[in-house]
Amino acid sequence: MRECFEIRDLDAGGRIGELSVPRADVTVETPALLPVINPNLDTISPRRLADEFGAEILITNSYIIHGDDDLRERALTDGLHDMLEFPGAIMTDSGSFQLSEYGEITVTTEEILEFQHEIGSDIATPVDIPTPPDVSREQAERELETTQERLEIAEGADTGEMLVSAPVQGSTYPDLREQAGRHAERTDLDVFPVGAVVPLMNDYRYDDVVDVVAAAKRGLGADAPVHLFGAGHPMMFALAVAMGCDLFDSAAYALYARDDRYLTVRGTRALEDIDYFPCSCAICTAHSPDDLRALPDDERESELAAHNLHVTFAEIRRIKQAIRAGNLMELVEQRARAHPTMLDGYRTLLDHAAQLERSDPVSKGSFFYTSHESARRPEVVRHHDRLERLSVPDSLLLTEGDAPRGDEYDDSWRVEPPFGPFPRALSKSYPLTAEVPDRTDRAALAAAADGVARLVDVNPDADITLAHDGWPASVLERVPDDVALVDLTAS
Ligand SMILES: [Zn+2]
Repeated sequence: MRECFEIRDLDAGGRIGELSVPRADVTVETPALLPVINPNLDTISPRRLADEFGAEILITNSYIIHGDDDLRERALTDGLHDMLEFPGAIMTDSGSFQLSEYGEITVTTEEILEFQHEIGSDIATPVDIPTPPDVSREQAERELETTQERLEIAEGADTGEMLVSAPVQGSTYPDLREQAGRHAERTDLDVFPVGAVVPLMNDYRYDDVVDVVAAAKRGLGADAPVHLFGAGHPMMFALAVAMGCDLFDSAAYALYARDDRYLTVRGTRALEDIDYFPCSCAICTAHSPDDLRALPDDERESELAAHNLHVTFAEIRRIKQAIRAGNLMELVEQRARAHPTMLDGYRTLLDHAAQLERSDPVSKGSFFYTSHESARRPEVVRHHDRLERLSVPDSLLLTEGDAPRGDEYDDSWRVEPPFGPFPRALSKSYPLTAEVPDRTDRAALAAAADGVARLVDVNPDADITLAHDGWPASVLERVPDDVALVDLTAS
């Protein structure tokens, strides 16, 4: 277990954790949002972020501070906390972003780490190389090597109590991301940003984001605190948390406000297109869209930024509550409906169901089957794995109907889509207590048929009969030939 991070609650790959930040003497509850503060222009003051929005941590850019004579002097003299007037934890970025945008920067990892330490940063960042998506394998490998050298330099630096992050790069090569995660995990660094995903998010490539995070997580292991660097849109937080991300940073709240854009958990809207606000934050209840449009530019920007932050923090709270209640996957399913590319992200998340299953609690409150994607959730994967360990009598009836009278079979198990067969004694245990719609879908039936197939596979000598409620032929094809079939709807 990493000393600075403790996991409290789990749901799918998501977790509520505590990140101890010793230099700030605070504990940050994760998933956490780090609002990005541009030291040159704060749309919402850090003090207000703490008091009004409950921000426990923020992020600012040490490279910008380092490069500005006035800011540098103030930061060195007063320290970051006094300069920004922020009581929580302060993370600093290193200029890697500027490196990726402008091709070069003027500091080394040693210099910028020392500077971050001198100005009182609580979590510092070395200068890694944010390799963009889709580059050649050679470039991705070469730049990853440089990033890894920088992490080793950071490991050797005298950073005292300051935590130091270890960015995980590797472009869109899952094996490189995984290897980068493993390397970062072996250092004694503390927080693990998955880097260079902004270009993917800007192109709505949420499926690729999920693959990249899943690969990094495989390398990092379960107990590493993971930061999805540059992810600030609340629409995708639930998906990213379910994948196992703990920290997010948002510049979006301010950048979007500057362009008159209004954030919602279902996407971004142009203020000019809104007739009614779908939000009950202080801004949206005090103003109509017309009122807001009529405000002077700077006031409108500040009010929009405040709304954007409210909706962003609210989503983080909603996600934490969903983890506590054990229904994070249902929240992800809802969010996936906001945009076809989010649905791609969710479907890709389900490709990693076996990976999520490892951290998913064995028992939770309820399993709601709310879309055909539910048939691929980690709980279904787990049940299918479990079927291999159940002992089966010589002759067994699997039925969607009632238990048979008489002694034609040694035993009869229930069959419930999407899980498939299970002994009646398990009927009251999670997830077999699932709420499933009466008008079931093909995906649920197919998953149930796969469950039957799994059971037959490991018990080739058992005599198995399946009594089903009129499953279509295309579903029954998934059931092995030696299973006797009874159609309960045929009589
Ligand atoms: Zn609002």
